[in-house]
Amino acid sequence: MSANVHFPPPRRILMGPGPSGAHPRVLRAMTEPLLGHLDPDFLRIMDSCREKLRAVLRTANRVTLATPGTGTSGMEAAVMNAVQPGDDVVVGVCGYFGGRIAEMAERAGGRVTRVEAPWGAPVDPEAVRRAIRERRARVVAIVHAETSTGVLQPVEPIAAAAREAGALTIVDCVTSLGGVPVETDRWGADIVYSATQKCLSAPPGAAPITVSDEAWQRISSREVPPNSWYLDLRLLEAYWDERRTYHHTAPISMVYALHEALSLVLEEGLEARWARHERNGRALQAGLEAMGLTLHAQPGYRLPVLTTVKVPEGIDEAAIRKGLLERYSIEVGGGLGELRGRVWRVGLMGEASTPGNVLYFLSAFGRLLREAGFRADIRAAREAAAAALAG
Ligand SMILES: *Cc1c(COP(=O)(O)O)cnc(C)c1O
Repeated sequence: MSANVHFPPPRRILMGPGPSGAHPRVLRAMTEPLLGHLDPDFLRIMDSCREKLRAVLRTANRVTLATPGTGTSGMEAAVMNAVQPGDDVVVGVCGYFGGRIAEMAERAGGRVTRVEAPWGAPVDPEAVRRAIRERRARVVAIVHAETSTGVLQPVEPIAAAAREAGALTIVDCVTSLGGVPVETDRWGADIVYSATQKCLSAPPGAAPITVSDEAWQRISSREVPPNSWYLDLRLLEAYWDERRTYHHTAPISMVYALHEALSLVLEEGLEARWARHERNGRALQAGLEAMGLTLHAQPGYRLPVLTTVKVPEGIDEAAIRKGLLERYSIEVGGGLGELRGRVWRVGLMGEASTPGNVLYFLSAFGRLLREAGFRADIRAAREAAAAALAG
């Protein structure tokens, strides 16, 4: 037996790149009694989930469901089903998650062209358009909210370029859904997937995904089935639609959690929720700059739900994070991939996106930075954030 295991675990303020804290109503939903995965009452909850997912994803797509597993299961379902061996695939890569999609597309047998941008900028839609033409791409994939860099990627021009060329567009909305506007149908995106534990504020374990009619036709007429049985969308849909064909045992409590999380999003209202994330994110960013720090992501493309802050010269990135966790019970993220040790990643997702968290974080962070020798102006930071919150 481990002597220092803490269970029940300590309470933290989760302000990293995910998971974010779950709403108490979501946690309570998970304690409701289990039903069988074919119980009529459970099937009604699944149907209701589909309806709410369509509303939150802003789509009329019939094929809308949640894959069992975290966001990566949604990514793998999208890529493995859309990409067929020999397909030319164009992937926009300006951070870690774009790179992950490209790797998956290669495993699916695609011939992958990466259209790259520096980590901190979005991918240039014109460069994607050129690559789609040159490669005669069948599938195009892009990350809407690149959690590794804090960049918001414009999706609409990329989806339009793909559509003109007859290619399907996959959009990773893992970090954006429920925090910043996701407009599946208005964008003309074909496959959009997300996760429960970022701006939807449920525990990790399910991945919403929606598929356009065009993409569904392509997927349904595949000659070679996808290389994943568990994430074969045709088999998943046969369980989620009226056929109710057994495929896997639905993660019952996760479906309850997702259902309650979606209810909370719709009760708050999507527009109000986006506005809340925007206001708190901008306040945090104003505060950090007033403190004397530099933000990493290109201005004009900064995500309100995930902020990357440059580590000042001579400051130990990991030591500050440790101090935040141990002294203030705040979790933030470190840099991923090429940004390791160079940035902090501060999330304001879902339940974590509150004015109180913005102000508490700025005070705690500023204090630790001062102790480490960086002349953080905490008062200016709090004033700038408070002004942004009021304005
Ligand atoms: C978190 C994240 C993922 C992966 O999701 P997991 O739930 O960790 O599997 C994929 N894409 C983006 C943009 C993410 O932020």
